[in-house]
Amino acid sequence: MNTIERTDAYVFNTYARIPTVFVRGQGATLWDDRGNSYTDFLAGIAVASLGHCHPAVTRAIADQAATLVHVSNIFYTEPQAELAQMLVENSFADKVFFANSGAEANEAAIKLARRYFNEKGEPGRFKIITMNQSFHGRTMATLSATGQDKIKQGFSPLVEGFVHCPFNDIDALTALIDDSVCAVMMECLQGEGGVLPADPDYIKSVRRLCSERGLLLIFDEVQTGMGRCGTLFAHELFDVTPDIMTLAKALGNGLPIGAMLASKETVKGFTAGSHATTFGGTPLVTRAALEVLKIISEPAFLGEVREKGSYLKQELTKLMPRHKTIKAVRGKGLLVGMELDSDAGKVVRLAMKKGFILNAIQGKVIRFAPPLVITREEIDGVVKVLDDLLD
Ligand code: PLP
Repeated sequence: MNTIERTDAYVFNTYARIPTVFVRGQGATLWDDRGNSYTDFLAGIAVASLGHCHPAVTRAIADQAATLVHVSNIFYTEPQAELAQMLVENSFADKVFFANSGAEANEAAIKLARRYFNEKGEPGRFKIITMNQSFHGRTMATLSATGQDKIKQGFSPLVEGFVHCPFNDIDALTALIDDSVCAVMMECLQGEGGVLPADPDYIKSVRRLCSERGLLLIFDEVQTGMGRCGTLFAHELFDVTPDIMTLAKALGNGLPIGAMLASKETVKGFTAGSHATTFGGTPLVTRAALEVLKIISEPAFLGEVREKGSYLKQELTKLMPRHKTIKAVRGKGLLVGMELDSDAGKVVRLAMKKGFILNAIQGKVIRFAPPLVITREEIDGVVKVLDDLLD
């Protein structure tokens, strides 16, 4: 049996996989087992933001792997402390909880929001409002939080206490708030939902509303955080601050790490024993993430992400008059969506044959989430291929 046959025979069939076996990656290039190379405009879905096998991250992983990979969280380690300090010093937050994935970071945020009000003597405040088309993960609580029915099918009964609301509609949100609501949880830009940014006025109004009504505001920055949108965290683009933020994906550039960051007041919800995980914040992953954060948080690096993101959007927009199938080009930084009035999956499959990895979401949207180190020449390459394919 070859790799594809063995995978299909022995691994759960939960992914609609594309039949390509990747064996190597460097920067924005991936190679398959037949020696074909591809320019990667997906980066493991916004994960390999520094490109595949970035030398500084690889060095940090190798060094740490030879020094100390894991000890229990009942002890202290320097990489965890250093990463937490750097995350706090570069954000609104005062403390960090380390998890292993985006869903787990969100799970921690949900638990913290509920527990915070419990500790305050308001156990009746437990509902969390999330948005239609949102995506927060696949654990029972995070799929219950997710505003997409297809993710929930067959898993009832769901975790109770999640209410969904139309995105970018402040009146609808206001109408849903009562004494049972503890938090609003949302993405500043819905990634899986179709690359849909929040309106700047809306997101400011959400912050105001949460503060006025005493609710916690949770930003899920699992996909939008770590420089993806051209600022270290996407909420900086909107000049609003949450009470809780979650990160994962690009934080480890491919190593599994999630983080839940919270403000000083909110941190009071958790005490020793409230929450835990065996692997969260292990020295190996935190050492790698520290290297990632040092590079991505450089203002010059983030400036380039903004510039290249504008360039990608501009060049894709230029295709619109020639290809009427393109209905919209939108996004922030290097998280860009091109909405078609036809099957985006077909375009993505054809682009792969031409050596470009893209991704189709919600049927009609092509998502671009390249490594943040992508070059203008590589952007020109994908735009040219799309121009030809859409013909
Ligand atoms: N939240 C958002 C916004 C995401 O985009 C994702 C994954 O795509 C998740 C949460 C879940 O992250 P993970 O797959 O690491 O559990």
